[in-house]
Amino acid sequence: ETIGVNLERNVLRFPDAAALIDVPTGRSWTYAEFNRDVDDLAAGLLERGIRAGDRVGIWSPNCAEWTLVQYATAKAGAVLVTVNPAYRQSELDFVVKQSGMRMLFTAPGDPRNDYEVMAREAQQQAGSLDLVFLAGEDSNGFAALSADGRRAAAASGAPAGAGAVAERMASLRPGDPINIQYTSGTTGFPKGATLTHSNILNNGYFIGELLGYTDKDRVVLPVPFYHCFGMVIGNLAALSHGAATIIPSRTFDAAAALEAVQSRQATSLYGVPTMFIAELGLEDFNRYDLSTLRTGVMAGSPCPEEIMKRVIRDMNMAEVAICYGMTETSPVSTMTRRGDSLERRTRTVGRTMPHLENQVVDPGTGQPVPFGEIGELCTRGYSVMAGYWDEPDKTAEAIDAEGWMHTGDLARMDEEGYVSIEGRIKDMVIRGGENIYPREIEEFLYSHPSISDVQVIGIPDERYGEELMACIIAVPGAPEPDAASIAEFCRGRLAHYKIPRFVQVRGSFPMTVSGKIRKVQMREEVMEHLG
Ligand code: ATP
Ligand code: MG
Repeated sequence: ETIGVNLERNVLRFPDAAALIDVPTGRSWTYAEFNRDVDDLAAGLLERGIRAGDRVGIWSPNCAEWTLVQYATAKAGAVLVTVNPAYRQSELDFVVKQSGMRMLFTAPGDPRNDYEVMAREAQQQAGSLDLVFLAGEDSNGFAALSADGRRAAAASGAPAGAGAVAERMASLRPGDPINIQYTSGTTGFPKGATLTHSNILNNGYFIGELLGYTDKDRVVLPVPFYHCFGMVIGNLAALSHGAATIIPSRTFDAAAALEAVQSRQATSLYGVPTMFIAELGLEDFNRYDLSTLRTGVMAGSPCPEEIMKRVIRDMNMAEVAICYGMTETSPVSTMTRRGDSLERRTRTVGRTMPHLENQVVDPGTGQPVPFGEIGELCTRGYSVMAGYWDEPDKTAEAIDAEGWMHTGDLARMDEEGYVSIEGRIKDMVIRGGENIYPREIEEFLYSHPSISDVQVIGIPDERYGEELMACIIAVPGAPEPDAASIAEFCRGRLAHYKIPRFVQVRGSFPMTVSGKIRKVQMREEVMEHLG
């Protein structure tokens, strides 16, 4: 089925259950109200001449309108291009052009972020781009679009369910593209993954199944909607099961997230590891009542074991799941299950999702490696993207003739199918012929009392090819670690070639908006610094 059909089924089952709660404005929608507003908006899109397959962008921090646009474009058959809210002019221009965008939803003027100014500039560049400003003081373009839709539906005099939107929905197929999502750009330039109804709806549905979502669940989403974490693991997983989605803030705010859990008695909380670290680190953390939480999702990058333990114990998230995946696989391909041991949830990213296949291959030969050995993880099945938008060469590089998506991630799989992620092929360091996986060293260094966060990178070295550098964020007030003290700490506990030769203490790491550390960029920065 398509995303629109799935929503309508849930409206019949749970008309009065909460679907969407926007904490900053205090507004909320039941499933029936949500579907009605989605229909008005979808009718407005048709009224403005949006055809099935047309690209419609959204460039905004999280807000209720974002979710309405997600579902309205799905009902109208438009391809929603989700634009990273951190993008600036040149990146926006690129995406508008690369995707051939016809309409762009964006936030009205914000003094810090001037979406409006940049959107108008992009419009100039593009020649023709219909701009719609989401609700705000300066503009009511969004309300006007919905009103147009309502008027058009009323004027057609068609009985409910037989209008233009229903007709469009009936013409859509599950294999139709519905989304272009650009990857995080952690390792280079973002690529636009083209995803279908079937890709993302099924993935969201199975995630919700494994989390045990029902109409009793209330899910707090501090993760960005433009990214698959927010729109699939968040919105689609919850809304395909009758659960409520709660938007705690426009962009991540640790206190607002916990406040929303407490005030809305949420059962589930999402985040990348750095978000949980910030929440656990709040000075008044103990003030929040988190007793209604039972589950949540942690994904996007590896989670230090210590943090995982604290999330389970101090945040009451006994059933928290780890998800692993990538934009190109819609996104989740492995996930921990509710009964998995603490060990499994700290050391692995769980097992393969239902109806998908994963295998670990030797990156050189492409042959599967034995259980327990490191290789490149490859994924096959319903969730693999249709391809990179308008980049057939990159698609052919990523998806092989047998349909395997090559993830670029290094992983091991044990005999029971549990997968652990050992890093990215691009982050692997080769020192004097030894393959070194920085992740292992990072895990070890987290146990150092003066280290609050750490990333290990390889830097060029004449003698060994590459040498290790630990980039460290120190615990405030603790003695600042240096190369000698780190070496001392590691001696006898790590193989000698894994001991970082250089240490750099820094205030922060370069991050993507989806919360990933941009190691490739960090390495470049270090290199520049070293001259
Ligand atoms: P780009 O492809 O543009 O360089 P990206 O790969 O970070 O950026 P995404 O699709 O957002 O873009 O992220 C997918 C990647 O995130 C995976 O390939 C993997 O490296 C990492 N990842 C996702 N989940 C986990 C997890 N649970 N544990 C470890 N790494 C993870
Ligand atoms: Mg990637």
